[in-house]
Amino acid sequence: MDLKNYISDVPDFPKEGIIFKDISPLLASPEATGHALELLSKGLHDIKATKVVGIESRGFLFGTLLAQQLGLGFVPVRKPGKLPGNVLRESYALEYGTDHIEIQADRIKQGELVIVHDDILATGGTASAACRLIERCGGKVVQCNFLMELGFLNGREKLKNYALHSLMHI
Ligand code: IMP
Repeated sequence: MDLKNYISDVPDFPKEGIIFKDISPLLASPEATGHALELLSKGLHDIKATKVVGIESRGFLFGTLLAQQLGLGFVPVRKPGKLPGNVLRESYALEYGTDHIEIQADRIKQGELVIVHDDILATGGTASAACRLIERCGGKVVQCNFLMELGFLNGREKLKNYALHSLMHI
């Protein structure tokens, strides 16, 4: 099964000049979703991680499935103002300006091994900010895990200190 057949290209979304990779056809197929999950979790069964961190919002979809598949807890990283209680915040650069993401400080314990999951790796700004949040909690990132990597944006460079696994490469 070629999973790329389940990702559609949407031109000029969310703005002109951007080709948006839409994973909804993949989610609509239980066979493709199951296959993707199997491949995403490959090699992770032997890692002594205890948490999967998923990045808002599409990182929640396979992030929670992956956590269940591996018997791990799931922790969301979210846009500012969405998570209650004691939160840590990190900023990252966008093409124009900056954005922020947050984590609940108590969800990751000192020394916990953590897998980071998101749907798409583009410039790597979001995932590297998520890694910094995990490290500020005292956790250690054992793998950054993506459905798809947009290689031409070189997000890998920002994540060069981490093990990286992407199912599909563009
Ligand atoms: P980055 O910070 O530039 O690596 O962007 C990654 C974030 O933007 C992820 O949370 C993705 O969900 C989202 N993203 C970037 N490009 C796409 C796309 O083509 N389709 C879906 N999400 C995208």
